[in-house]
Amino acid sequence: MGARRARNWRPITLGAALIVTFVVLLVIGTQKPEDSRPAPVASATAQDWMRKLAPGERPPQFVLFSFDGAGAHDQWQRLLDLAGRSNAKFTAFLSGVYLLADDQRKQYTAPGHPAGQSSISFGGSPDQVRTRIADLNAAAKAGIEIGTHYNGHYCSQRWTTQQWQSELQQFFQFVDQAGVQGLKVDSAAIKGSRLPCLEGKFDAVFDAMKSRGLTYDSSQVSDGVLWPAKEKDIWEFALPMVRMPAVNNKKVTMVDYQIWDALNRSKDDKTKRDEFARATLEVYRAAYDATLRGNRAPLLIGNHFLDWAGGGFGVAAEQFMAEVCVKPETVCTTFSDVIRWMEAQDPAVLEQLRKLPAAQT
Ligand SMILES: [Zn+2]
Repeated sequence: MGARRARNWRPITLGAALIVTFVVLLVIGTQKPEDSRPAPVASATAQDWMRKLAPGERPPQFVLFSFDGAGAHDQWQRLLDLAGRSNAKFTAFLSGVYLLADDQRKQYTAPGHPAGQSSISFGGSPDQVRTRIADLNAAAKAGIEIGTHYNGHYCSQRWTTQQWQSELQQFFQFVDQAGVQGLKVDSAAIKGSRLPCLEGKFDAVFDAMKSRGLTYDSSQVSDGVLWPAKEKDIWEFALPMVRMPAVNNKKVTMVDYQIWDALNRSKDDKTKRDEFARATLEVYRAAYDATLRGNRAPLLIGNHFLDWAGGGFGVAAEQFMAEVCVKPETVCTTFSDVIRWMEAQDPAVLEQLRKLPAAQT
């Protein structure tokens, strides 16, 4: 399926971004997207779309918001509030080390690294971990899906199946261990993966995922927006590359850090917050219009729980969620819901959808 490209993540950039994140969160935590927010939508009709398509009927326009890391309290609060009022569900790919307090860091050993190291630090104080557990419980109660962003956010192009198995084994161990502290996220319900930096040997990753019972991944890149396809029994939801008007229509993967790199080579310039939010929103809206009119493939919005460049990417995602999820024929939901929907369709219908040209902007 779609073109794969090596990702060039810069851990130093991430480290620097993390340092400013918590400061920035304090500053912008109470700010709201520019537009007024939508009124709540009646939930009685929320699942009407979960059925087989009638002959000739077009699929719903699925929009899959996903947020990686999923550690920051302020962002959990804002997103749960917004999703609740926008009739939206989303998926959070959790970094497992955020369930370990800093003084528990030695419990994690990343493949090829000494025990107690992580490129995104750890979960902070025991109080911060408790708050995060409460956030995750609130999310699970609201139907938000939790997936794995693995643990220490190492860009890992060389890891073997065994090393990915170790990452997953440790991730699930941290989730189960947090259960003792009150985490009510069922580890058996965690079915999906997003690779840190979108990097890994997919053969090795998928073998490791299968051995843990995972069923989907969202780490590859496709040229335009395409329907998911199965590889080695794993559903792959590729992140689309689309044209970005703000950078001379260059093709950019619809993930916050890639958009940031395209805009100003990931320079953390907080004065660019609104400009970057507008440029990102423009990309989201154009991609939505193209899929709605085109192949109706699920549209993926990939972000982190980080406030890079003053939080512009978070602003764009939140504003887009507020405006798109209440549109007719549009369903903002989770990866697992879309898999259930796809599995409810006549396989020939799904095959026809997959043959439609990728939606392009
Ligand atoms: Zn990440």
